[in-house]
Amino acid sequence: MYVCGVTVYDDCHVGHARSAIVFDVIRRYLVHRGFQVTFVKNFTDIDDKIIARAQELDIPWQTLTRRYINAYDRDMARLHVSPPTIEPKATEHLPDIIDLIRALVDKGVAYQAGTDVYFQVDRFPQYGKLSKRKLDDMQAGARVEVDERKRHPMDFALWKGAKPGEPSWNSPWGEGRPGWHIECSAMSMRHLGESFDIHGGGQDLIFPHHENEIAQSEAASGKPLARFWIHNGFVTVDQEKMSKSLGNFFTIREIFEKFPASEPVTAEVLRFFLLSTHYRSPIDFSDEALRQARAGLNNFYDLFKRLEEGSVKGPPGKAEWQKVLSHIATGFEEAMDDDFNIPVALATLQKFRSHVNSRLHAGLSSSEGQEALAVLRKCGQILGLFQVPSSDWEFAQAVVKAPNKQLTDFPPTVVVSSKASIDDSEIERLIEERQQARARKDWTRADAIRQELAERGIAIEDRSDGNTNWKR
Ligand SMILES: [Zn+2]
Repeated sequence: MYVCGVTVYDDCHVGHARSAIVFDVIRRYLVHRGFQVTFVKNFTDIDDKIIARAQELDIPWQTLTRRYINAYDRDMARLHVSPPTIEPKATEHLPDIIDLIRALVDKGVAYQAGTDVYFQVDRFPQYGKLSKRKLDDMQAGARVEVDERKRHPMDFALWKGAKPGEPSWNSPWGEGRPGWHIECSAMSMRHLGESFDIHGGGQDLIFPHHENEIAQSEAASGKPLARFWIHNGFVTVDQEKMSKSLGNFFTIREIFEKFPASEPVTAEVLRFFLLSTHYRSPIDFSDEALRQARAGLNNFYDLFKRLEEGSVKGPPGKAEWQKVLSHIATGFEEAMDDDFNIPVALATLQKFRSHVNSRLHAGLSSSEGQEALAVLRKCGQILGLFQVPSSDWEFAQAVVKAPNKQLTDFPPTVVVSSKASIDDSEIERLIEERQQARARKDWTRADAIRQELAERGIAIEDRSDGNTNWKR
């Protein structure tokens, strides 16, 4: 697999997290299915944006790229994304890049113009096959500035001559640096060969980046570049794409720091949220969506805790139970085999969770409980979920009911964990008072109570159902 990586000139945002997590899950699943996966993800560490940012900050560009490669590695570790097998950098592949450009010039599909080298798109008849565009339509629709050095307006740079003071490498066409697209063709060819199985990236890379990669690689090798193309959808905010240029983005670091300790966004919460929508569809980011993800995980961890505590009773396993277990594993795999339909795979696990919950009432033996736990943890492992010891999972212990709910609708008003032994009634009283303050929109009083509880070591969490969780 080759997945286009980041250009290292700034912190990564949630859109990058989505791409990283989607391909991490795809990789884990392929390994689970018995494939040997070589996962290559590059760093674009030389580029116009990098040069501009380094000049703006008045630091060497290498310092800038090192800083953001470190930041990226830290973010990925925090998201529990497995490191790629190979993480090539553009600046470490200049000989490969120059060789590939030379081969394209020799074949007559690229040409030198001044100090630059361009790919000539009309020499590659299949140009547009991935994005399903026709060259004539592109030309008509493109608002490209007329560049007299180009033979066709859609021709793109393989090599850019250096301006004074810019980073540069020696080449047959003079001092310069590679264009963006050529690095991926050169690096995938170096590490995976002329043809490989899966090429991935964000949906915004289909055109022109991946179209250009196909043109370069296939014009040079005469072979198909990738057997499968996988593109993940955007993360949106209020239905608009989250992006640097629109300024409506949250960096991964901000997400982890944005929420108070009482409502933590852990890597698992972010994963659960990002995986709840099909990887190809857009997903809208909001605080509420993260809260729902946390609530969804709470439900699972509640069950894990009950199963782990061994509070299960009942007759020993029956043949029917084995059928249920294998049905879950099969359902999970069928969903994942269907173009990695992770939301359906998750729904299978959710259905199983309900089933086990109802079995807990009817009677479930300890070994059955352990088997249920094992299946959920094993499927969860592929998604990067359910791996935290349930005793570490927060907020599963106590719920204080919202004041406007009918008592008969819910179990007892306060469910307190056995571990909470001091002054629970006082906590309960304060939370109820805070709920009443919130109900009459007295935010000052509500915040003061939250603050008072925080000072006494109690964190609270308002759930989307109106109830409030708390923990010491
Ligand atoms: Zn790429």
